[in-house]
Amino acid sequence: MTAATLWHPYAQMHTQPPALNVIGGKGARFTLEGGESLLDATCSWWCMIHGYSHPRLVAAIKDQADTLCHVMLGGLTHEPAKQLADALVRVTPAGLNHVFFSDSGSVGMEVAMKMAVQYQVQTGQPEKHRMMSLMRAYHGDTSGCMAVCDPEEGMHSLFSGYLPRHHFAPAPTAPFDAPRAAVEDDIQALRRMLEAHHHEVAALLMEPLLQAAGGLNMTSPHYVRAARELCDEFDVLLVFDEVATGFGRTGKLFAAEHAGVTPDIMVLSKGLTGGYLGHAATLATDKVYGAFLSEDPGHAFMHGPTFMGNPLACRVALESLAVFEEERYLDKIATLNAILRQELLEDSDLRAHSEVDDVRVLGATAVIEVKDAVCLKGVQAFARRHGVWLRPFGRWLYTMPAYVTTADEMRRITDVMKGWFRERAEQAKPA
Ligand SMILES: *Cc1c(COP(=O)(O)O)cnc(C)c1O
Repeated sequence: MTAATLWHPYAQMHTQPPALNVIGGKGARFTLEGGESLLDATCSWWCMIHGYSHPRLVAAIKDQADTLCHVMLGGLTHEPAKQLADALVRVTPAGLNHVFFSDSGSVGMEVAMKMAVQYQVQTGQPEKHRMMSLMRAYHGDTSGCMAVCDPEEGMHSLFSGYLPRHHFAPAPTAPFDAPRAAVEDDIQALRRMLEAHHHEVAALLMEPLLQAAGGLNMTSPHYVRAARELCDEFDVLLVFDEVATGFGRTGKLFAAEHAGVTPDIMVLSKGLTGGYLGHAATLATDKVYGAFLSEDPGHAFMHGPTFMGNPLACRVALESLAVFEEERYLDKIATLNAILRQELLEDSDLRAHSEVDDVRVLGATAVIEVKDAVCLKGVQAFARRHGVWLRPFGRWLYTMPAYVTTADEMRRITDVMKGWFRERAEQAKPA
Protein backbone atom coordinates (compact mmCIF):
# COMPACT_ATOMS: atom_id res chain seq x y z
CA MET A 1 0.00 0.00 0.00
CA THR A 2 1.25 3.44 -0.84
CA ALA A 3 1.01 6.32 1.58
CA ALA A 4 -1.04 8.85 -0.35
CA THR A 5 -1.48 12.05 1.61
CA LEU A 6 -3.92 13.48 -0.89
CA TRP A 7 -7.12 11.45 -0.90
CA HIS A 8 -9.00 11.76 -4.21
CA PRO A 9 -12.78 11.81 -4.69
CA TYR A 10 -14.64 8.73 -5.97
CA ALA A 11 -11.25 7.04 -6.24
CA GLN A 12 -10.11 3.58 -5.23
CA MET A 13 -6.77 4.79 -3.93
CA HIS A 14 -5.40 1.25 -3.83
CA THR A 15 -5.70 0.47 -7.52
CA GLN A 16 -6.18 3.76 -9.31
CA PRO A 17 -3.28 5.05 -11.40
CA PRO A 18 -1.81 8.31 -10.09
CA ALA A 19 -3.84 11.42 -10.92
CA LEU A 20 -2.48 13.63 -13.71
CA ASN A 21 -0.66 16.69 -12.44
CA VAL A 22 -2.11 19.90 -13.88
CA ILE A 23 0.13 22.95 -13.86
CA GLY A 24 -1.97 25.49 -15.73
CA GLY A 25 -4.55 26.09 -18.39
CA LYS A 26 -5.82 28.47 -21.00
CA GLY A 27 -9.20 28.53 -22.73
CA ALA A 28 -10.72 25.06 -22.94
CA ARG A 29 -7.34 23.37 -22.38
CA PHE A 30 -5.25 22.51 -19.37
CA THR A 31 -1.57 21.64 -19.30
CA LEU A 32 0.08 18.73 -17.52
CA GLU A 33 3.47 18.61 -15.94
CA GLY A 34 5.79 17.73 -18.81
CA GLY A 35 3.93 19.96 -21.26
CA GLU A 36 1.12 17.70 -22.49
CA SER A 37 -2.00 19.74 -23.23
CA LEU A 38 -5.51 18.28 -22.95
CA LEU A 39 -8.75 19.71 -24.27
CA ASP A 40 -11.22 19.51 -21.37
CA ALA A 41 -14.53 18.04 -22.57
CA THR A 42 -16.01 18.27 -19.06
CA CYS A 43 -14.93 21.81 -18.05
CA SER A 44 -13.90 20.44 -14.67
CA TRP A 45 -17.15 18.94 -13.40
CA TRP A 46 -19.15 21.39 -15.51
CA CYS A 47 -18.15 24.58 -13.71
CA MET A 48 -15.31 26.20 -15.72
CA ILE A 49 -17.68 27.71 -18.26
CA HIS A 50 -15.19 30.41 -19.34
CA GLY A 51 -12.34 27.93 -19.55
CA TYR A 52 -9.04 28.32 -17.71
CA SER A 53 -7.18 31.57 -16.97
CA HIS A 54 -9.85 33.89 -18.31
CA PRO A 55 -8.13 37.30 -18.06
CA ARG A 56 -11.20 39.20 -16.82
CA LEU A 57 -12.05 36.67 -14.13
CA VAL A 58 -8.46 36.49 -12.93
CA ALA A 59 -8.23 40.29 -12.85
CA ALA A 60 -11.48 40.55 -10.85
CA ILE A 61 -10.13 38.19 -8.19
CA LYS A 62 -6.80 40.03 -7.98
CA ASP A 63 -8.50 43.38 -7.73
CA GLN A 64 -10.89 42.20 -5.03
CA ALA A 65 -8.03 40.55 -3.13
CA ASP A 66 -6.34 43.94 -2.83
CA THR A 67 -9.50 45.39 -1.26
CA LEU A 68 -11.20 42.75 0.88
CA CYS A 69 -10.72 38.97 0.78
CA HIS A 70 -13.27 38.01 3.37
CA VAL A 71 -15.60 39.33 6.01
CA MET A 72 -18.49 37.58 7.73
CA LEU A 73 -22.03 38.28 6.61
CA GLY A 74 -23.29 38.06 10.21
CA GLY A 75 -24.20 41.67 10.98
CA LEU A 76 -21.93 42.98 8.19
CA THR A 77 -22.35 43.42 4.48
CA HIS A 78 -20.31 44.53 1.46
CA GLU A 79 -20.71 45.68 -2.12
CA PRO A 80 -19.84 42.44 -3.97
CA ALA A 81 -22.46 40.45 -2.01
CA LYS A 82 -25.14 43.11 -2.42
CA GLN A 83 -24.42 43.55 -6.12
CA LEU A 84 -24.39 39.82 -6.79
CA ALA A 85 -27.72 39.35 -4.98
CA ASP A 86 -29.22 42.12 -7.13
CA ALA A 87 -27.73 40.66 -10.31
CA LEU A 88 -29.06 37.16 -9.56
CA VAL A 89 -32.54 38.54 -8.86
CA ARG A 90 -32.35 40.35 -12.21
CA VAL A 91 -31.32 37.34 -14.31
CA THR A 92 -33.28 34.49 -12.68
CA PRO A 93 -36.98 33.79 -13.38
CA ALA A 94 -39.28 36.62 -12.25
CA GLY A 95 -40.30 36.40 -8.60
CA LEU A 96 -37.11 34.99 -7.11
CA ASN A 97 -36.30 38.13 -5.14
CA HIS A 98 -34.19 36.98 -2.20
CA VAL A 99 -30.74 35.40 -2.22
CA PHE A 100 -29.06 33.32 0.50
CA PHE A 101 -25.40 32.53 -0.20
CA SER A 102 -23.43 29.44 0.82
CA ASP A 103 -20.22 27.75 -0.23
CA SER A 104 -21.10 24.79 -2.46
CA GLY A 105 -23.91 23.21 -4.44
CA SER A 106 -24.59 20.62 -1.75
CA VAL A 107 -24.84 23.24 0.98
CA GLY A 108 -27.02 25.38 -1.30
CA MET A 109 -29.41 22.40 -1.51
CA GLU A 110 -29.25 21.83 2.26
CA VAL A 111 -30.24 25.48 2.66
CA ALA A 112 -33.15 24.99 0.22
CA MET A 113 -34.45 21.95 2.12
CA LYS A 114 -34.16 23.60 5.55
CA MET A 115 -35.86 26.68 4.15
CA ALA A 116 -38.74 24.57 2.79
CA VAL A 117 -39.25 22.71 6.08
CA GLN A 118 -39.11 25.87 8.19
CA TYR A 119 -41.49 27.57 5.75
CA GLN A 120 -44.03 24.79 6.34
CA VAL A 121 -43.61 24.97 10.12
CA GLN A 122 -44.07 28.73 10.14
CA THR A 123 -47.12 28.60 7.90
CA GLY A 124 -48.80 26.11 10.22
CA GLN A 125 -48.07 22.81 8.48
CA PRO A 126 -45.30 21.19 10.56
CA GLU A 127 -46.36 17.72 9.37
CA LYS A 128 -45.03 18.64 5.91
CA HIS A 129 -41.43 17.83 6.77
CA ARG A 130 -40.30 15.36 4.12
CA MET A 131 -38.98 15.90 0.64
CA MET A 132 -40.16 14.44 -2.62
CA SER A 133 -37.39 13.80 -5.10
CA LEU A 134 -37.11 11.95 -8.41
CA MET A 135 -35.43 8.68 -9.19
CA ARG A 136 -32.10 9.33 -10.99
CA ALA A 137 -31.75 12.61 -9.10
CA TYR A 138 -28.42 13.86 -7.85
CA HIS A 139 -28.42 16.76 -5.40
CA GLY A 140 -25.01 16.53 -3.72
CA ASP A 141 -22.88 14.51 -1.33
CA THR A 142 -23.70 15.88 2.15
CA SER A 143 -26.03 13.73 4.29
CA GLY A 144 -29.19 15.73 3.66
CA CYS A 145 -28.50 15.72 -0.07
CA MET A 146 -27.60 12.04 -0.19
CA ALA A 147 -31.02 11.27 1.23
CA VAL A 148 -32.67 12.87 -1.82
CA CYS A 149 -30.36 11.29 -4.43
CA ASP A 150 -31.61 8.24 -6.35
CA PRO A 151 -31.63 5.59 -3.60
CA GLU A 152 -30.86 2.71 -5.96
CA GLU A 153 -28.51 3.95 -8.63
CA GLY A 154 -26.98 6.80 -6.67
CA MET A 155 -23.62 6.50 -4.99
CA HIS A 156 -25.22 6.56 -1.56
CA SER A 157 -26.99 3.22 -1.10
CA LEU A 158 -24.23 2.28 1.35
CA PHE A 159 -25.59 4.84 3.77
CA SER A 160 -29.26 3.99 3.53
CA GLY A 161 -29.43 2.97 7.20
CA TYR A 162 -28.14 6.36 8.26
CA LEU A 163 -30.25 8.59 6.03
CA PRO A 164 -33.74 9.94 6.64
CA ARG A 165 -36.46 8.55 4.37
CA HIS A 166 -38.05 10.67 1.72
CA HIS A 167 -40.40 9.99 -1.18
CA PHE A 168 -39.28 9.35 -4.75
CA ALA A 169 -41.37 9.79 -7.88
CA PRO A 170 -40.30 7.90 -11.01
CA ALA A 171 -37.73 9.62 -13.21
CA PRO A 172 -39.37 11.23 -16.24
CA THR A 173 -38.85 9.28 -19.45
CA ALA A 174 -40.25 11.52 -22.22
CA PRO A 175 -37.44 13.32 -24.10
CA PHE A 176 -36.92 17.07 -24.33
CA ASP A 177 -38.87 17.58 -27.55
CA ALA A 178 -41.75 15.22 -26.74
CA PRO A 179 -45.26 16.58 -27.42
CA ARG A 180 -47.48 17.15 -24.36
CA ALA A 181 -49.40 13.89 -24.88
CA ALA A 182 -46.18 11.86 -24.76
CA VAL A 183 -45.33 13.36 -21.36
CA GLU A 184 -48.71 12.48 -19.84
CA ASP A 185 -47.54 9.20 -18.27
CA ASP A 186 -44.63 10.94 -16.53
CA ILE A 187 -46.96 13.65 -15.24
CA GLN A 188 -49.54 11.16 -13.99
CA ALA A 189 -46.83 9.22 -12.15
CA LEU A 190 -45.79 12.42 -10.38
CA ARG A 191 -49.42 13.26 -9.64
CA ARG A 192 -50.00 9.85 -8.03
CA MET A 193 -46.99 10.30 -5.75
CA LEU A 194 -48.10 13.77 -4.69
CA GLU A 195 -51.67 12.58 -4.15
CA ALA A 196 -50.44 9.83 -1.86
CA HIS A 197 -47.90 11.85 0.13
CA HIS A 198 -48.49 15.60 -0.17
CA HIS A 199 -49.72 15.87 3.42
CA GLU A 200 -46.17 15.16 4.63
CA VAL A 201 -44.16 16.73 1.81
CA ALA A 202 -42.55 20.16 2.24
CA ALA A 203 -41.06 20.40 -1.23
CA LEU A 204 -40.63 18.66 -4.56
CA LEU A 205 -36.99 18.80 -5.67
CA MET A 206 -35.89 18.52 -9.26
CA GLU A 207 -33.06 19.20 -11.64
CA PRO A 208 -35.22 20.79 -14.35
CA LEU A 209 -34.83 19.27 -17.84
CA LEU A 210 -31.50 17.58 -17.18
CA GLN A 211 -30.81 15.06 -14.45
CA ALA A 212 -27.09 15.43 -14.74
CA ALA A 213 -25.06 13.10 -12.53
CA GLY A 214 -27.93 10.60 -12.60
CA GLY A 215 -27.09 9.77 -16.22
CA LEU A 216 -27.78 12.94 -18.21
CA ASN A 217 -31.45 12.11 -18.35
CA MET A 218 -33.23 14.80 -20.35
CA THR A 219 -36.89 15.59 -20.07
CA SER A 220 -39.56 17.86 -21.46
CA PRO A 221 -40.49 21.42 -20.48
CA HIS A 222 -44.09 20.09 -20.32
CA TYR A 223 -43.03 17.97 -17.37
CA VAL A 224 -41.46 20.94 -15.62
CA ARG A 225 -44.61 23.04 -16.18
CA ALA A 226 -46.82 20.25 -14.91
CA ALA A 227 -44.64 19.94 -11.81
CA ARG A 228 -45.29 23.61 -11.10
CA GLU A 229 -49.06 23.12 -11.46
CA LEU A 230 -49.08 19.99 -9.31
CA CYS A 231 -47.08 21.69 -6.56
CA ASP A 232 -49.62 24.52 -6.49
CA GLU A 233 -52.49 22.07 -6.43
CA PHE A 234 -51.02 20.05 -3.55
CA ASP A 235 -49.53 22.98 -1.63
CA VAL A 236 -45.95 21.71 -1.92
CA LEU A 237 -43.00 24.03 -2.57
CA LEU A 238 -41.13 23.52 -5.84
CA VAL A 239 -37.33 23.58 -5.59
CA PHE A 240 -35.21 23.69 -8.73
CA ASP A 241 -31.67 22.44 -8.35
CA GLU A 242 -30.03 24.37 -11.20
CA VAL A 243 -26.53 23.72 -9.87
CA ALA A 244 -25.67 21.92 -13.12
CA THR A 245 -28.28 23.35 -15.51
CA GLY A 246 -27.84 27.00 -14.51
CA PHE A 247 -25.79 29.50 -16.50
CA GLY A 248 -26.50 28.29 -20.00
CA ARG A 249 -25.94 24.55 -19.91
CA THR A 250 -29.36 23.72 -21.42
CA GLY A 251 -29.23 26.51 -24.02
CA LYS A 252 -31.02 29.18 -21.99
CA LEU A 253 -29.55 31.00 -19.00
CA PHE A 254 -31.64 28.79 -16.70
CA ALA A 255 -33.48 25.57 -17.53
CA ALA A 256 -36.62 26.97 -15.89
CA GLU A 257 -36.89 29.43 -18.80
CA HIS A 258 -37.63 26.63 -21.28
CA ALA A 259 -40.82 25.98 -19.32
CA GLY A 260 -41.53 29.57 -18.37
CA VAL A 261 -42.01 28.73 -14.70
CA THR A 262 -40.69 30.18 -11.47
CA PRO A 263 -39.91 27.70 -8.71
CA ASP A 264 -40.40 28.72 -5.07
CA ILE A 265 -36.72 28.11 -4.39
CA MET A 266 -33.83 27.78 -6.82
CA VAL A 267 -30.25 26.70 -6.17
CA LEU A 268 -27.24 27.81 -8.22
CA SER A 269 -23.56 26.89 -7.93
CA LYS A 270 -21.03 25.33 -10.37
CA GLY A 271 -21.15 27.98 -13.16
CA LEU A 272 -22.02 30.77 -10.71
CA THR A 273 -18.42 31.87 -10.24
CA GLY A 274 -17.34 30.57 -13.63
CA GLY A 275 -15.84 27.79 -11.50
CA TYR A 276 -13.10 30.05 -10.15
CA LEU A 277 -14.16 29.80 -6.49
CA GLY A 278 -16.61 27.59 -4.63
CA HIS A 279 -19.91 29.33 -3.97
CA ALA A 280 -23.67 28.83 -4.17
CA ALA A 281 -26.86 30.85 -4.06
CA THR A 282 -30.29 29.72 -2.87
CA LEU A 283 -32.98 32.07 -4.19
CA ALA A 284 -36.48 32.36 -2.79
CA THR A 285 -39.74 34.05 -3.77
CA ASP A 286 -41.51 36.69 -1.67
CA LYS A 287 -43.93 33.98 -0.53
CA VAL A 288 -41.13 31.87 0.98
CA TYR A 289 -39.16 34.82 2.35
CA GLY A 290 -42.32 36.31 3.86
CA ALA A 291 -42.85 33.26 6.07
CA PHE A 292 -39.63 34.15 7.92
CA LEU A 293 -40.66 37.74 8.72
CA SER A 294 -42.13 38.07 12.17
CA GLU A 295 -41.72 39.73 15.58
CA ASP A 296 -40.44 36.37 16.82
CA PRO A 297 -36.61 36.08 16.51
CA GLY A 298 -37.11 32.31 16.45
CA HIS A 299 -38.68 32.62 13.01
CA ALA A 300 -35.38 33.79 11.51
CA PHE A 301 -33.64 31.44 9.10
CA MET A 302 -31.08 29.79 11.37
CA HIS A 303 -28.28 29.04 8.96
CA GLY A 304 -24.98 30.76 8.24
CA PRO A 305 -21.98 29.18 6.58
CA THR A 306 -18.72 30.90 7.56
CA PHE A 307 -17.83 31.69 3.97
CA MET A 308 -21.26 32.75 2.70
CA GLY A 309 -21.07 35.80 0.49
CA ASN A 310 -17.28 35.65 0.33
CA PRO A 311 -16.21 38.86 -1.45
CA LEU A 312 -13.76 37.13 -3.81
CA ALA A 313 -16.41 34.62 -4.87
CA CYS A 314 -19.10 37.30 -5.28
CA ARG A 315 -16.81 39.55 -7.26
CA VAL A 316 -15.74 36.81 -9.67
CA ALA A 317 -19.39 35.72 -10.04
CA LEU A 318 -20.31 39.28 -11.02
CA GLU A 319 -17.51 39.34 -13.57
CA SER A 320 -18.55 35.92 -14.87
CA LEU A 321 -22.09 37.17 -15.46
CA ALA A 322 -20.83 40.34 -17.14
CA VAL A 323 -18.64 38.33 -19.54
CA PHE A 324 -21.52 35.92 -20.18
CA GLU A 325 -23.82 38.78 -21.19
CA GLU A 326 -21.35 41.08 -22.98
CA GLU A 327 -19.79 38.30 -25.02
CA ARG A 328 -23.17 36.78 -25.91
CA TYR A 329 -22.50 33.35 -24.50
CA LEU A 330 -25.98 32.10 -25.42
CA ASP A 331 -24.92 32.46 -29.06
CA LYS A 332 -21.73 30.51 -28.38
CA ILE A 333 -23.81 27.80 -26.70
CA ALA A 334 -26.13 27.68 -29.73
CA THR A 335 -23.09 27.18 -31.98
CA LEU A 336 -21.77 24.35 -29.79
CA ASN A 337 -25.26 22.83 -29.76
CA ALA A 338 -25.43 22.84 -33.56
CA ILE A 339 -22.10 21.02 -33.76
CA LEU A 340 -23.10 18.47 -31.13
CA ARG A 341 -26.34 17.77 -32.97
CA GLN A 342 -24.64 17.47 -36.33
CA GLU A 343 -21.69 15.38 -35.17
CA LEU A 344 -23.43 13.10 -32.68
CA LEU A 345 -27.23 13.12 -33.04
CA GLU A 346 -27.14 13.05 -36.82
CA ASP A 347 -24.35 10.49 -37.12
CA SER A 348 -26.15 7.36 -38.28
CA ASP A 349 -23.09 5.09 -37.77
CA LEU A 350 -22.87 6.14 -34.14
CA ARG A 351 -26.58 5.77 -33.51
CA ALA A 352 -26.63 2.37 -35.19
CA HIS A 353 -23.57 1.11 -33.32
CA SER A 354 -24.45 -2.14 -31.56
CA GLU A 355 -23.10 -0.99 -28.20
CA VAL A 356 -24.83 2.41 -28.22
CA ASP A 357 -28.20 2.67 -26.52
CA ASP A 358 -29.02 6.35 -27.01
CA VAL A 359 -27.52 9.68 -28.04
CA ARG A 360 -28.89 12.89 -26.50
CA VAL A 361 -28.07 16.56 -26.91
CA LEU A 362 -29.39 19.59 -25.01
CA GLY A 363 -27.73 22.99 -25.07
CA ALA A 364 -24.01 22.54 -24.50
CA THR A 365 -24.44 18.98 -23.26
CA ALA A 366 -24.19 15.72 -25.17
CA VAL A 367 -24.16 12.13 -24.04
CA ILE A 368 -23.66 8.76 -25.65
CA GLU A 369 -25.37 6.21 -23.45
CA VAL A 370 -24.07 2.68 -23.93
CA LYS A 371 -25.78 -0.60 -23.18
CA ASP A 372 -23.01 -1.95 -20.99
CA ALA A 373 -20.51 0.16 -19.02
CA VAL A 374 -17.79 -2.37 -19.89
CA CYS A 375 -17.57 -0.96 -23.42
CA LEU A 376 -16.29 2.36 -22.03
CA LYS A 377 -13.32 0.74 -20.32
CA GLY A 378 -10.20 2.31 -21.81
CA VAL A 379 -11.96 5.29 -23.40
CA GLN A 380 -10.25 7.77 -21.09
CA ALA A 381 -6.76 6.62 -22.12
CA PHE A 382 -7.87 6.58 -25.78
CA ALA A 383 -9.10 10.18 -25.48
CA ARG A 384 -5.87 11.26 -23.82
CA ARG A 385 -3.86 9.82 -26.70
CA HIS A 386 -5.93 12.14 -28.92
CA GLY A 387 -5.42 15.15 -26.67
CA VAL A 388 -8.83 15.19 -24.99
CA TRP A 389 -9.87 14.87 -21.34
CA LEU A 390 -13.02 12.78 -21.03
CA ARG A 391 -14.30 11.36 -17.77
CA PRO A 392 -17.19 8.99 -18.38
CA PHE A 393 -19.19 7.52 -15.50
CA GLY A 394 -21.33 4.40 -15.53
CA ARG A 395 -22.86 3.94 -18.99
CA TRP A 396 -22.46 7.57 -19.97
CA LEU A 397 -19.80 9.08 -22.20
CA TYR A 398 -20.57 12.77 -22.23
CA THR A 399 -19.26 16.22 -22.90
CA MET A 400 -20.17 19.46 -21.14
CA PRO A 401 -17.57 21.77 -22.65
CA ALA A 402 -16.57 25.27 -21.60
CA TYR A 403 -18.54 27.80 -23.65
CA VAL A 404 -15.28 29.26 -25.00
CA THR A 405 -14.57 25.95 -26.74
CA THR A 406 -14.02 26.76 -30.42
CA ALA A 407 -15.85 25.00 -33.25
CA ASP A 408 -12.67 23.08 -34.15
CA GLU A 409 -12.14 22.07 -30.55
CA MET A 410 -15.75 20.95 -30.25
CA ARG A 411 -15.36 18.77 -33.34
CA ARG A 412 -12.17 17.34 -31.96
CA ILE A 413 -14.07 16.27 -28.84
CA THR A 414 -16.94 14.72 -30.82
CA ASP A 415 -14.43 13.03 -33.16
CA VAL A 416 -12.75 11.39 -30.19
CA MET A 417 -16.08 10.31 -28.70
CA LYS A 418 -17.15 8.78 -32.02
CA GLY A 419 -13.65 7.49 -32.75
CA TRP A 420 -13.81 5.20 -29.75
CA PHE A 421 -16.88 3.44 -31.13
CA ARG A 422 -15.49 3.35 -34.68
CA GLU A 423 -12.32 1.69 -33.42
CA ARG A 424 -14.33 -0.87 -31.46
CA ALA A 425 -16.49 -1.63 -34.49
CA GLU A 426 -13.37 -2.21 -36.58
CA GLN A 427 -11.74 -4.40 -33.95
CA ALA A 428 -14.91 -6.50 -33.77
CA LYS A 429 -14.82 -7.25 -37.51
CA PRO A 430 -13.43 -10.65 -38.45
CA ALA A 431 -9.90 -10.36 -39.94
C1 LIG B 1 -22.71 19.11 -8.55
C2 LIG B 1 -24.13 19.15 -8.14
C3 LIG B 1 -24.50 19.36 -6.80
C4 LIG B 1 -23.50 19.45 -5.69
O1 LIG B 1 -22.65 20.54 -5.80
P1 LIG B 1 -21.25 20.55 -4.99
O2 LIG B 1 -20.71 21.92 -5.24
O3 LIG B 1 -20.42 19.47 -5.59
O4 LIG B 1 -21.57 20.31 -3.57
C5 LIG B 1 -25.85 19.45 -6.52
N1 LIG B 1 -26.78 19.35 -7.47
C6 LIG B 1 -26.47 19.13 -8.77
C7 LIG B 1 -27.55 19.07 -9.78
C8 LIG B 1 -25.13 19.03 -9.14
O5 LIG B 1 -24.82 18.78 -10.42
